[in-house]
Amino acid sequence: MRRELRDGHGRVMRDLRVSITDRCNFRCVYCLPETEEAANFYRTRFDAVRNPNPASTVPLDYAWKPRHELLQYEEIERFVRVAVDLGIEKVRLTGGEPLLRRDVPRLVRALSAIPGIKDLALTTNGFLFGAQAAALREAGLHRVSISLDSLVRDRFRLLTGRDGLHETLSAIDVAQTLGFQPVKVNAVIIGGLNDHEIESLAQFARDRGLVMRFIEFMPLDSKRAWQRDLVVSGRTILERLADRFDLVPIEASSNPSETARRWRFADGPGEIGIIAPVTQPFCGHCNRLRLTADGQVRTCLFSLVEHDIRPLVRGDGSDAALADRLIGIVRGKESGHRIGQPDFVQPQRTMSCIGG
Ligand code: SAM
Ligand code: SF4
Repeated sequence: MRRELRDGHGRVMRDLRVSITDRCNFRCVYCLPETEEAANFYRTRFDAVRNPNPASTVPLDYAWKPRHELLQYEEIERFVRVAVDLGIEKVRLTGGEPLLRRDVPRLVRALSAIPGIKDLALTTNGFLFGAQAAALREAGLHRVSISLDSLVRDRFRLLTGRDGLHETLSAIDVAQTLGFQPVKVNAVIIGGLNDHEIESLAQFARDRGLVMRFIEFMPLDSKRAWQRDLVVSGRTILERLADRFDLVPIEASSNPSETARRWRFADGPGEIGIIAPVTQPFCGHCNRLRLTADGQVRTCLFSLVEHDIRPLVRGDGSDAALADRLIGIVRGKESGHRIGQPDFVQPQRTMSCIGG
């Protein structure tokens, strides 16, 4: 009988997210804010960021993992091969900003050659995508998701800490021109910051034939500034969009683990999806597993424990030993996250380390 990654709640893992670096060239306020002021943006709605007072601006200093602690491409490939043997079908490369790693097409080529991978995707902020897009496509990347939280240059800069709107929009163009299908665009929606752009982001998807994903703000930011009040619920997002557009629900695919609820526009191309892990958790169907850049397996975004497999992939442990370890780790996958519960504890590591 084929061995698989089945947890103690009957869920079988099919989807692996691999973070290949914890570093990033952006400083999104909801992930890796640049300064104390940016981290606490909600207090002043960015006044302190727009008009910084040098005397009180405190740059945040991030301690990146030393490079020798990051898994090498051969080690990642080995881990993925073993995971695919155990039933993983979808692999997504992420970070940090994955395109900060050298020669990502080399990794993509190695992974795309593994028999059994049905879907190989990348999540990126897009800033460095244009220059590598053709090589990534040629190496066998199937799909790309590009993060875009605002269509307005100044707001984009406030949200991401970088003046990168032009590059991110170009990345979306290039991805479409090269035939990545679909091209997904991720927007984290935060109350008072970019929720007034929900309609214009959907219009952008409608005009450009994109798959737009609206994501609830989750408590995974480095400075723990997350507040429940700042979460714009999936329901609110849907109501706003339904007021403006003629939306037709897309039947859930045969895959119950899909995290987004999806709609198409009745009168044209494009699609929207809402990912609402805070207000409508989908943990009951979760089939995801995560590998961090430094070789820690996480069974949930919100796991409080990590499982170090680096000695096994780096040392001379056999593939069979790695498979046994993985099966054991998955058996203990938590039933779900506890956001909103009195005993909720935010994980030590942030989205940029865990890999969104
Ligand atoms: N740097 C790449 C990017 O931004 O696309 C890949 C890594 S990033 C951690 C992956 C996704 O996580 C992005 O779409 C980002 O918007 C999302 N993300 C980061 N922090 C988040 C948070 N606190 N709540 C919800 N989504 C978050
Ligand atoms: Fe970097 Fe992505 Fe986090 Fe923004 S969301 S800081 S681009 S890792």
